[in-house]
Amino acid sequence: MNSTETKTSSNAHNVNTFLYWKDKNLISDKTYRELSIAAKLPSLKQLQDRSKDLNSLFTIKPLTNKQGVYEPLQHKLVRILTHNFSNLNNCDLTIKLTGDGTRIGKRLHIITAGFVLINNHFKSPDYVLSMAKGQESYTTIRDITFDIINSTHSLKKLTVGVKDYSLKYVLCADLKFLNLIMGLGGFKSDYCCLWCFAPTKEFRLFDKQFKKRTVEEISRLSENKKSHFNCLHKPIFPFIAVKDVIPDPLHMFLRISDQLIRQLIKLLREKDKIEKKTKNIVKSNCKSIMQFEIFVQNLGYDWHFYTCPETALMKYPDFQGPQHEKIQKHINLIDFLGDHPKFELINSLWKRFPQLIADLKHISEEHEILKFKADSKQWLEDWRRAYPSKDITVYMHVMCSHGGDAIRRHGSLSKFSQQGFEKLNDTFN
Ligand SMILES: [Zn+2]
Repeated sequence: MNSTETKTSSNAHNVNTFLYWKDKNLISDKTYRELSIAAKLPSLKQLQDRSKDLNSLFTIKPLTNKQGVYEPLQHKLVRILTHNFSNLNNCDLTIKLTGDGTRIGKRLHIITAGFVLINNHFKSPDYVLSMAKGQESYTTIRDITFDIINSTHSLKKLTVGVKDYSLKYVLCADLKFLNLIMGLGGFKSDYCCLWCFAPTKEFRLFDKQFKKRTVEEISRLSENKKSHFNCLHKPIFPFIAVKDVIPDPLHMFLRISDQLIRQLIKLLREKDKIEKKTKNIVKSNCKSIMQFEIFVQNLGYDWHFYTCPETALMKYPDFQGPQHEKIQKHINLIDFLGDHPKFELINSLWKRFPQLIADLKHISEEHEILKFKADSKQWLEDWRRAYPSKDITVYMHVMCSHGGDAIRRHGSLSKFSQQGFEKLNDTFN
C-alpha cells in the first residue's frame, strides 16, 4: 500500500469512527461542525455523505400494522449474499426465522424478528428483519411479522447475479415465543406442548406415543371455543410445518438448569427447616441456604437471597446464561447434599444433564439419536425417582420426547442455537 492509499484508508476509517460516535452520542450537526473545525476531525459534509451511502444499502420501511420498521427479506438476502457471502455458490439455504422480546430500560418493551442463513457448511450471523414496541403476545408478533410473511411465503428460490439459491424455512426461538407464533396458549394449559397432544400432567409418561400436532389441526382447533387443546389462534407462519419448528438447545439448557437449581434450593430449605410459607427469614439461621449463596458469590456474582417487600417471603434473582454454565461446571453437590438419602441419584442427574444438551447440539447419526433417546428417557425416569413428577416441565418433555426427532429431521441442533440472537438482544439493552 503506497502512502496515498494509506491516507485514504485511514481517512475512511476516521469518517466511519466519527459517524458512529456522533450517532451513538446524539451529537447535533451544529456541535459536530464546531468541534470538527477546532479538533481537525473529518468534516460534517464527509460524515453526511458517508451516512447517505450507508443508508442507500438498506431498505427500511414502516410496518403496515404497527408502529415499527422492517426490511423486506428478499432485499436483505440479496444484499447479504452479494456483500457478505459472495463466495457462496448455487446451493440450498435454510432460513431460520426467529424472534424474541426484550426490555430496554424499565418500561420500554420491544419485539424483534430476525433470521439466520444456514447450510451444511456455514451459519451466518443473526440479522434483524423487523422491530416494534410491544410485549410478547400473539397480536404483536403477528403485526411485526405481517410484512415478512407477505414477502416470504412465495419466496422459494432466489437469484443473485448468476447464482441460484433454493430456500427452506424453519422456526426456532424459546418455547414461549414459539407457542405464541404457532397460535398456542401458555404453559399453564393442560396441553402446552406445541409438537404433540400430550396432556401436561402426563409429561412423565415418556414411553406413551401422543398424537403429533399439525398446522392445519391447530388452525381448525383454534375455531373451537371449548375443546381447543390450547390452540387459540391460527399459526402465524402457516407455510412452516410443525416438524420444521425446532426447539432451541440453549433455552432447553437454561430452563432445565433453572429447575435443577430450584429443586436443590428446595432441599436446602428443608435442611434448614424453613417452610415454604415462612416469612421474614433471618439468613444467619439458614446454614445451607447461606452456603449456596456464598458458593455463587465465589463464582464472581453479586447474587443473594432477599426478602420480598410485598410478601416477606425469601426469594432469589433468576440466573442468567453464563451463571448457569458456571454453576453447572463448578458445583460439587456433595458439599450441599452429601448426607441426603438421594444424594447419588441427584448428583447423577446433575452430572448427566450437560451431556444430554451436548448431544442435542452435536450428534446426527441414527445410532447416536437412539442412544440419546434412551439416555434422556432414563434421565427423566431418574428425575421422577428424585423429585415430584408434577415438577417435570415442558422443556424436559420437549428435550426427551421431541429432541431426537428434531435431530433426525434437521441434523445436530447447534446450528439453530439462539445464542447469537440473545447476544443481539443484549446489545439493545
Ligand atoms: Zn410433546
